Amino acid sequence: MAFESLTDKLQNVFKNLRGKGRLSEDDVKAALKEVKMALLEADVNFKVVKQFVSSVQERAVGEDVLNGLNPGQMVIKIVNEEMTALMGSETTELKLLPINEITVIMMCGLQGAGKTTTAAKIAGKLKMKGRKPLLAACDIYRPAAIDQLKINAEKQQVDFFSMGTDVSPVEIAKSAIDQAKKNGNNVVIVDTAGRLQIDEAMMKELCDIKEAIEVHQSLLVVDAMTGQDAVNVASQFNEKVGIDGIILSKMDGDSRGGAALSTKSVTGKPILYVGMGEKLSDLEQFYPDRMASRILGMGDVLSLIDKAVEANAERDAEKDKEMAAKMKKGKIDFEMYLESMKQMRNMGGLSSIMGMLPGMGKISDDQLPDEKKLAKMEAIVLSMTPEERKNPKLMNPQRKFRIAKGSGNDIADVNRFIKQFDQMQKMMKQMPGLMGGKKGGFGKF
Ligand code: GDP
Repeated sequence: MAFESLTDKLQNVFKNLRGKGRLSEDDVKAALKEVKMALLEADVNFKVVKQFVSSVQERAVGEDVLNGLNPGQMVIKIVNEEMTALMGSETTELKLLPINEITVIMMCGLQGAGKTTTAAKIAGKLKMKGRKPLLAACDIYRPAAIDQLKINAEKQQVDFFSMGTDVSPVEIAKSAIDQAKKNGNNVVIVDTAGRLQIDEAMMKELCDIKEAIEVHQSLLVVDAMTGQDAVNVASQFNEKVGIDGIILSKMDGDSRGGAALSTKSVTGKPILYVGMGEKLSDLEQFYPDRMASRILGMGDVLSLIDKAVEANAERDAEKDKEMAAKMKKGKIDFEMYLESMKQMRNMGGLSSIMGMLPGMGKISDDQLPDEKKLAKMEAIVLSMTPEERKNPKLMNPQRKFRIAKGSGNDIADVNRFIKQFDQMQKMMKQMPGLMGGKKGGFGKF
């Protein structure tokens, strides 16, 4: 799982900080030295690390944190906030012209970064938002790339445009726009050729396309697994071609975190999306605050909710909203558990979901409950009365006994399940504070 080692190391530092009632300046310095090492090992750019550590230190010492209540937790809060700021603070949306105009998006990146896949992923997202995208194949050097884009366009049920491999990319791009006008497409996504490494010819081709047609958004796809290399690639593309935003692909792999944490600081360009898998639905909006929480091992409940809503687009929107609001407040009940079990099957499996829950990121696949155990837990909830499901506090020994009997389980199984549920609920309750919402909530962490 991405960031695993960085998250582990940071959590260890935090554990030591929390364990201390009072903190001296030297304690903070020692902790930040460890944070620095962890970030460097995660392949975060050296200058970025230096700046980050000095900002945290300045605030930790300057804001009278050390004399206040819970100084350890306050330092962690500062780390969380500074890490969010490092990644851009605000979420950057893809900029689109009004629906009656044609927005042109040019995809660029090295070969294998994930350009073609991401182009189709974005087309799918835009289609869901009511746009009518056209995918244009301008990689004339690899016929396989054209086929791949065509297949992906078919899968996404969006329009596709190609002129084969004998016409120049500039001509194809121009014709694609003509085609879009005729066909009523309001977004053209131009998939360009990549090379194994940065070279002049590739850069020139991209600049030529930009000169020939009006490109509204140039998006660069970089492979998150390549750490600082990804950041260097981004800097060079930005210098030579000019980019508007970055997409970090392969964040589902064991990326160490360097690319996510350094890209914005080094290039000045925001990360728009992260690729979370090979499937065409595996593209997530990038939220700096949620990513910081994920890296710090505090989970990412909000992305989990988004995932649930997207996976169940046809479901009852009101019910989803209600569930999201409850989760944000840290209120979960057995009814929601049942609902989540149903949704989980549509959401890419338990391990990807667990990675987003606070404290659960470190669980490996073999530690996860198998389908049989899940069915057992589901049976326990199904044996509860509607009141019990809505109000977990009603649980008492008689009720547990009845539920055990009704679901064909031992009372020990029921107790274990309810205990796990309690723990999850406690973790969820800590989330609003951790997310920077309710003031002081962090103290409970
Ligand atoms: P291009 O050469 O830049 O167009 O790259 P492709 O779109 O062909 O992608 C290269 C490989 O990376 C393919 O096997 C994709 O399925 C895979 N890929 C792309 N994005 C992701 C991602 O977010 N996660 C994972 N695991 N694989 C990805």
